Amino acid sequence: MGLDPVSEAKRIEREIIAWRRDFHMHPELGYEEVRTSKIVEEHLREWGYSIKRIGTGIIADIGEGGKTIALRADMDALPVQEENDVPYKSKIPGKMHACGHDAHTAMLLGAAKIIAEHKDELNGRVRLIFQPAEEGGNGAVKMIEGGALEGVNAIFGFHVWMDLPSGIIGIRDGPFLAGAGIFGGKIIGKGGHGASPHETVDPIPIMAEAILAFQTIVSRNVPPIETGVVSVTSVHGGTAFNVIPEEVEFKGTFRFFKPEIGELIQRRMREILEGVTKAHGAKYELSIEELTPPTINSPEMADFARKVAEKYGLKYGDVPPTMGAEDFAFYLQKVPGAFLALGIRNEEKGIIYPHHHPKFDVDEEVLYLGTAMEVALAFEFLRS
Ligand SMILES: [Zn+2]
Ligand SMILES: [Zn+2]
Repeated sequence: MGLDPVSEAKRIEREIIAWRRDFHMHPELGYEEVRTSKIVEEHLREWGYSIKRIGTGIIADIGEGGKTIALRADMDALPVQEENDVPYKSKIPGKMHACGHDAHTAMLLGAAKIIAEHKDELNGRVRLIFQPAEEGGNGAVKMIEGGALEGVNAIFGFHVWMDLPSGIIGIRDGPFLAGAGIFGGKIIGKGGHGASPHETVDPIPIMAEAILAFQTIVSRNVPPIETGVVSVTSVHGGTAFNVIPEEVEFKGTFRFFKPEIGELIQRRMREILEGVTKAHGAKYELSIEELTPPTINSPEMADFARKVAEKYGLKYGDVPPTMGAEDFAFYLQKVPGAFLALGIRNEEKGIIYPHHHPKFDVDEEVLYLGTAMEVALAFEFLRS
């Protein structure tokens, strides 16, 4: 191809950073990305994309014939009060782009601009997916229901990554982020006087037993070479020092990389609650919701991404898996692709705080590399 994605991206670097700062100053929570999506849509229309709206989400196409490659960015922020003292600090109290989705939107907007400028060199179609509500809202599902993957042959997405040094593109085969589920329920006993426990069915020690038994799911039931998490993160029962409560409520989350481990965790939780409550004459309620499947990169597409990075001199490396979850998983269940990481950790600049932290920030000087990789992936995939 005639264009050099890296120098093209470098040429519009100031614009990419300006967009990122603008989005950063005006964060919007999941499904409320009205301002952000309006700005994105205006640019895309100006550059000649055909647009389909899915609520606050946007599907934008350019080029025709041949194959279709999709590139995805998420646009939502988090309910976090920013603690950075920077000129582009969030102007909205209690809301912040603390995961870097402002950077994802800006990088893909940059790629959109370059791709449009070179649309005569496209051997197929590029579809851009700007989705809402990645943070627990499963915006990806809404986009897929709206047709985002129709006719798509491969999909790629980027996440800025605090655990990688600035400028390194992290590419991983197979499982990258975990599947995530939540659970909640109650132990139902029989309340009474704190001095007469024999006349009650005290749900508090029963809850304690169940919590300890949950800890054996990962340590005793999940095969040692596999991985899983079961965390009880909330327990509520009782109001007074001399009253045994009727019920104890609990909540938590579980994580896994393989669907069969996710199923094992859910089955064991039910069996434990069944057994422990039966032993003490109590009852239980349990609801389990699998929120997000594991994010599993296609090894072929990961390898393709490595070749593209290599060809354009972009630095890349492996990236360890994390137990965090990402709704990009839903796209990867339907079409081959890879979720890539862009290192943004820069100790000298003090950019070291983890994702979702009130002092999270991104090293803006490497954002053009994400844009360059997106452009390169698009043109190279359509030529392949
Ligand atoms: Zn996040
Ligand atoms: Zn994120």
